[in-house]
Amino acid sequence: MFNGWLIEKTQDQSQATFSQIDDDALPDGEILVEVDYSTINYKDALAITGAGPVVRSFPMVPGIDFSGRVLESKQANIAVGDAVILNGWGVGESHWGGLAERARVKGDWLTPLPDQISAQQAMAIGTAGFTAMLCIMALEKHGVTPASGDVLVTGATGGVGSIAITILAKLGYDVVALSGRTEEAYEYLTDLGAKRVLPRSTFSVPGKPLQKANWAGVIDVAGSHVLANACASTQYGGVVAACGLAGGMDFPSTVAPFILRGVTLVGIDSVLCPQPLRNQAWQRLARDLDMQKLEMMTKTIRLADVKHHAKALLNNQSQGRLVVKVK
Ligand code: NDP
Repeated sequence: MFNGWLIEKTQDQSQATFSQIDDDALPDGEILVEVDYSTINYKDALAITGAGPVVRSFPMVPGIDFSGRVLESKQANIAVGDAVILNGWGVGESHWGGLAERARVKGDWLTPLPDQISAQQAMAIGTAGFTAMLCIMALEKHGVTPASGDVLVTGATGGVGSIAITILAKLGYDVVALSGRTEEAYEYLTDLGAKRVLPRSTFSVPGKPLQKANWAGVIDVAGSHVLANACASTQYGGVVAACGLAGGMDFPSTVAPFILRGVTLVGIDSVLCPQPLRNQAWQRLARDLDMQKLEMMTKTIRLADVKHHAKALLNNQSQGRLVVKVK
């Protein structure tokens, strides 16, 4: 038996409980992992609280990320004792995830833990940091450099936003943070490396189709009006990486930024990201993320306290990254 969170469906509602789970109940997979750390991402918070339709089958162990060590392997290229990371692949949504002491998964879903980072740091990064890196790599791929101009990061105090700001600043970009928090949070954002902070309020209402051209690049976690206004205020030839829907699933924009300013809108998905790009992103995180700043933005919590923190995250009372110490 091992400890973990289990989400069960009762009538129309889902309920997450901290439970004792039988080893025999684990799903099929080639690799059994002893989970050391997990994390709470936005998607995990939706799953645990039942606030969004993240879980595809019940009962489900939530947790889209984990780091740990291999206990049993039926796959030739993965050995007992290997340090591994898992993020995405529908784990914690349609296959039991990382918010439990054990997980059994497909070998092909695992990424080796890069030598330069610890299992704890890997989960301080988690899907949020991994996605931030994918967004930055997308800006780079489309030609954005530090010389191109300012880069806007929305949802700045959240997991994706905080890590995006930190990496961009280290790479030499001038970062402008967009945040709905009060000015007390601005110091946190400038400490991470933001050059200045703008209030979210001006972006979260309908705006003109074309606005003053400010951004060479944008990393957007919000969607809806924030994304539409960000596109409308992007420079000629600029690039917008859209990865989230914290402000809404809709996209009330016009084609003006795309056909009159040649703006590129790039979609970012972390879940089914192909393994070569995945390994590249993790290697870049190990190299380009300031680990002291990562620690500064990270809070470590106990497995038993996950539900309380998931609610706080959805209520916008959380900042940076939450690591779950599982063992
Ligand atoms: P967090 O909850 O840590 O951060 C989200 C941030 O968004 C908040 O801190 C807040 O920042 C901002 N925000 C909150 N409410 C609103 C609103 N109504 N309008 C605009 N901004 C808002 O979440 P994560 O950073 O983990 O994830 C952010 C988004 O990215 C989520 O939608 C998530 O689903 C998505 N995501 C997508 C992935 C993918 O593969 N495409 C992978 C990972 C995440 P502030 O108060 O500073 O404005």
